[in-house]
Amino acid sequence: MKNRVTLERREFIQKSTLGILGLIGAASIGAAPFLNAKEFRLRPPGAVNEKEFLSLCIKCGQCAQVCPYHSIELADIFKGHGIGTPYIDALERACYLCKALPCVLACPTEALSHETEKPQDVHMGVAVFKYSNRCIGISKEEVSKKDIKRITSGVFSSSQEKEVLEKIHEFEDEQCTICADMCPYPNALDAIQMVDHNPTKGKKPEIKSSCVGCGVCAELCPTDAIVIEPRLNYEEYYVQKKRY
Ligand code: SF4
Ligand code: SF4
Ligand code: SF4
Repeated sequence: MKNRVTLERREFIQKSTLGILGLIGAASIGAAPFLNAKEFRLRPPGAVNEKEFLSLCIKCGQCAQVCPYHSIELADIFKGHGIGTPYIDALERACYLCKALPCVLACPTEALSHETEKPQDVHMGVAVFKYSNRCIGISKEEVSKKDIKRITSGVFSSSQEKEVLEKIHEFEDEQCTICADMCPYPNALDAIQMVDHNPTKGKKPEIKSSCVGCGVCAELCPTDAIVIEPRLNYEEYYVQKKRY
């Protein structure tokens, strides 16, 4: 959405001494699949565990084709392992948790499990309020025209995307509560709430136990203060302190 060149890709291009021909050569001898082997991506709703997902996904792209928000991308050579498999870059375009989960329905192989029937069944990851120093809710700055322009700099072609665009414009010149107010989880207060931040008397987001890691809070935050940890749930990240 924000037309960002991802850091991952930018850094890869900058650091690479192989050049494009070298990359193609590396891929052809099977090196590319292991470039980011330790890194988990955010997968579409219903994705089974990563190992099973990689063996079940036939890279047909059906999930990406039916997504009305254009949230799903297919991994290219720059994305390391799992070339051709679907993933979501939350900072570009998150998953908006469609009621009927068309991506899951479109999947012919159970790589996206058909037992995932509604947003409450989704377990993509969990949101983390990682960069509180950037949060304009805490510093009590209003959402500026420039912020709105940045958030909405991507493509909004479908009716669903246009609805998001309209809602975002309502925050201009208001105190920022975008992450909490735009959360698409059916009972959003169970996933994220704005709470007082005493030293500044501002407000900050607090992630709650029902967060499914769809990434909308991260995508729409004007200052990228929130990140998504893929493949971990609230209990694992916040209670068990598990990290990948
Ligand atoms: S639930 Fe909807 S927005 Fe999310 S990936 Fe599936 S089709 Fe796209
Ligand atoms: S629809 Fe299923 S099999 Fe096809 S690319 Fe998406 S996850 Fe893979
Ligand atoms: S807090 Fe809401 S918008 Fe953010 S990742 Fe969790 S469910 Fe999605």
